[in-house]
Amino acid sequence: MHVEKKIPVGILGATGSVGQKFVELLQNHPWFEITALAASERSAGKKYREAAGWFSGVPLDPKIADMIVSDCTPTLPCRIVFSGLDASVAGEIETNFATEGYVVVSNSKNHRMDTDVPLLVPDVNPEQLDLVKTQSYGPSTSSGSTTGMIITNPNCTTVGLVMALKPLVDAFGIESVMVTTMQALSGAGYPGVSSLDIIDNVIPFIGGEEAKMETEPQKILGVPLRISAHCNRVAVIDGHTECVSIKLSETATAEQIVNAWRSYRSVPQELDLPMAPLQPIHYFDEERYPQPRLHRMRDKGMACSIGRLRPCNLFDWKFVLMSHNTIRGAAGGAILNAELMVAKNMIN
Ligand code: NAP
Repeated sequence: MHVEKKIPVGILGATGSVGQKFVELLQNHPWFEITALAASERSAGKKYREAAGWFSGVPLDPKIADMIVSDCTPTLPCRIVFSGLDASVAGEIETNFATEGYVVVSNSKNHRMDTDVPLLVPDVNPEQLDLVKTQSYGPSTSSGSTTGMIITNPNCTTVGLVMALKPLVDAFGIESVMVTTMQALSGAGYPGVSSLDIIDNVIPFIGGEEAKMETEPQKILGVPLRISAHCNRVAVIDGHTECVSIKLSETATAEQIVNAWRSYRSVPQELDLPMAPLQPIHYFDEERYPQPRLHRMRDKGMACSIGRLRPCNLFDWKFVLMSHNTIRGAAGGAILNAELMVAKNMIN
């Protein structure tokens, strides 16, 4: 699909870990153009290069580096705002922007479980985007519809999990899931966990994370799953690894499960969206894979890598998955959400 004129977009929380990933992925995007950057009052009024302390290995476009950071009042010169705001402030700021008619594409937890807000992974539940038609945030247009909307993506660990589960839910049904995570440091924001806490160490607690993993998949997959999650922080920079055991509703062989993963394609692939992975799931036969350092950038950082499928003594099957937490699990996933909205003519 070709977009005639790029759509102006802003980034809320542009200075943070997710915000910087938004800038990195949007600075050469074929459909979107960054026209506004916003963060807290600590950053507002400064040039982006000074406020952000750019820590990506990808060079920052000098034009963006010179942009002045705004505060998060809903008067930004753009149609869409991508939000990487701290959860302590995201709820109210995002509501304010939607009320003023902006399309808000958020990473934060605040609106995820609202009944009229899509919790979207376009490769898994693209149909949930229709929920925005029940929203009534923004000013009405002449046709009676409203222009302000909020769309969310899930917690970064949930994204990889639902990508792995979806083809199996469709083919065999799933009753129960037990998952243990090894989560990257970039998931804790910037500057994040202190080096003296994490080097030579594992931290077996991430506030609020297990509850999110145990509830968000039901809203995304639309099935009543029983999930038990253990979440741990480990000394990896990017890429969350998850060890998963599943109980299926119908019996399946290893070959059938691997085929379901390898052949899985969905709407973003059919529409050829710019941020979509060509192949959502990469299954590895090598028993030492997947590994974050080797596989997190597969398919632009948007794929879910899986390996080590084997029988489970407690449930039916167990496997290991890995996905990039700030790309697939945050900024890249949110950009894919916005691309789906553009392709479906939902952004005027
Ligand atoms: P972060 O690095 O701490 O960044 C937080 C951002 O929020 C900064 O830009 C900060 O601006 C801004 N902010 C803080 N207080 C503010 C205020 N009072 N008003 C306006 N802006 C304010 O956090 P992060 O890791 O990027 O996470 C951002 C959000 O995405 C969180 O809700 C998080 O749960 C979610 N998320 C993160 C990941 C991940 O892998 N990191 C994945 C999925 C979802 P200043 O620099 O000016 O303080």
